[in-house]
Amino acid sequence: MFVDKVRISVAGGRGGDGAVAFHREKYVAAGGPDGGDGGHGGSVILRVNDNLSTLLDFRYKRKYQAQSGVAGAGGRRSGKRGEDLIIQVPRGTVVRDAETEKIIVDMSSGEDFVLAKGGRGGWGNGRFATATRQLPRFAKAGRPGQERDVILELKLLADVGLVGFPNVGKSTILSRTSNARPKIANYHFTTLYPNLGVIYVEEGVSFVMADIPGIIEGAAQGAGLGHDFLRHIDRCRLLVHVVDVSGSEGRDPVADFDAICAELEEYSPDLAARPMLVAANKTDLLPPDSDHLERLRAHVEEKGCRLLTISAGTGQGLRELVLTVSRQLQTLPPVAYYDPEYVEPEVQPGDPEELEIEHLGSTWAVTGTWLERLMQDINFQDYESRNFFDLQLRKWGVFDRLEEMGIRDGDTVDLYGMEFEYRK
Ligand code: GDP
Ligand code: MG
Repeated sequence: MFVDKVRISVAGGRGGDGAVAFHREKYVAAGGPDGGDGGHGGSVILRVNDNLSTLLDFRYKRKYQAQSGVAGAGGRRSGKRGEDLIIQVPRGTVVRDAETEKIIVDMSSGEDFVLAKGGRGGWGNGRFATATRQLPRFAKAGRPGQERDVILELKLLADVGLVGFPNVGKSTILSRTSNARPKIANYHFTTLYPNLGVIYVEEGVSFVMADIPGIIEGAAQGAGLGHDFLRHIDRCRLLVHVVDVSGSEGRDPVADFDAICAELEEYSPDLAARPMLVAANKTDLLPPDSDHLERLRAHVEEKGCRLLTISAGTGQGLRELVLTVSRQLQTLPPVAYYDPEYVEPEVQPGDPEELEIEHLGSTWAVTGTWLERLMQDINFQDYESRNFFDLQLRKWGVFDRLEEMGIRDGDTVDLYGMEFEYRK
């Protein structure tokens, strides 16, 4: 079975909790706090695997959870970090946020992508030891990992897409010009998988052609095979529209041509506007008195497309087709990579998710990534800098939050070991 669209849930591992522990030694009544930090949770990482060509594996497994971090221990021992979970996907997998359907990442370049970050490990109480407060009894809990629901959608990377009714000879063209060996048979709907073939033109020149299951009328409205498969030619730079001109199946090539163009238009006006070459196939079967070929030629040339006559069966015209395609590709932009559209919701420094306040006796410990970063940039010896720091704390509501939680004059505020007495 060919699977090219799935929905999965991923979650980074939870961070391990920080430890509350105290140093113990013989003859020492009470040692200092020495609880270690929890390990960070593992992340869920996407990686391209070129041996994969479908998303089939994801049909059977929908939930992916990276390992949690281990809790810290006494003696300032940090917990082990959780292992990352690597998810392998075929090249060309486009990842969307399940809710907004916005593109998060296009896995085409081959670079790894962190899809769900592991949670931070909590700090052990060893971190909170200061000269004045020797026995901090608090440590921080680990943070949960990032969770998200995403849609994986495979969009093959091909320069050229073959389109046309079933049985017109698309698979035959691909098999005779490339290394691909698609299934060929004389009945409709033979191709159930998209096939990719590399076509070697001459030294240093080659291109990739995709053969997708035949488009049939009404496919764009989901009436049959083909609709879903059109996504695999979304990225193509050029379309080769194959038409059976022999009339061997009693079809009219001009009507066929228009029907396929209408399908493309219905599915995506953008795709319908892509440069197109027309390959009039099965010319070996063309009855001498037939006007099919000439009518089709006049019709497509009127639309500004070039028509080439071929016989995939005998091989006549195939070399000319390959050269024409190759020449035209040189004038076209490269295969499209999709830019990310999804923007991570921004965390404000004052966000309760971002800023945590813990209360122990008369001490209030404030922590947060933003605060930690800010403090690294402040020179506390300098009056101006201290003022700026104070302003930032006010601006992001640190004092308001402390007030809300019931801080009193004279209580101690602890910011990563820096302590001050609170005065309104
Ligand atoms: P697809 O459905 O468009 O992929 O068509 P296929 O490549 O599977 O071909 C359908 C049938 O048409 C097969 O039996 C092919 O052997 C036959 N066929 C394809 N091209 C030609 C051709 O140029 N001449 C003749 N006589 N038969 C052809
Ligand atoms: Mg086929």
